[in-house]
Amino acid sequence: MDRFTRLCKAKGLKITPQRMAVYEALKNSKEHPSADRIHKQLMPTFPSISLDTVNRTLITFARIGIINVVEGQGDPRRFDPNREDHHHFYCLSCTKIFDFHDPDLEQIRIPDQVTRMFTITGKRLCLSGYCNECRHQKAETAAPAN
Ligand code: ZN
Ligand code: MN
Repeated sequence: MDRFTRLCKAKGLKITPQRMAVYEALKNSKEHPSADRIHKQLMPTFPSISLDTVNRTLITFARIGIINVVEGQGDPRRFDPNREDHHHFYCLSCTKIFDFHDPDLEQIRIPDQVTRMFTITGKRLCLSGYCNECRHQKAETAAPAN
């Protein structure tokens, strides 16, 4: 039994084809998509699925610990199927969020003043800037593309 099935069972969440499709779509995406993005992707297969259903499904998954909600930047809420420790890079242009790992960064020490003030349950660095694709586009678009 995979992790998804196991967690749904443990939390008493019924596994429906729609829920499964939402999870699969998120899992197969590398961009930390929004509910809207996943909804658009599922429309051809599930024409009757509403954005609200997709959104509520994702929030339920996050609540029971199957996925994470990740830091957006004023965007709609974004989701992450990867629950392991890792860091993010956020592209200010295309708004994709990329994963990266770095052993040194895992060792970051949290300042005492912060641990005194808060209970820390997660530690993730989120860098921002321009991804490779957008960087190249910027260089090329002295003349407007598309
Ligand atoms: Zn980009
Ligand atoms: Mn991630």
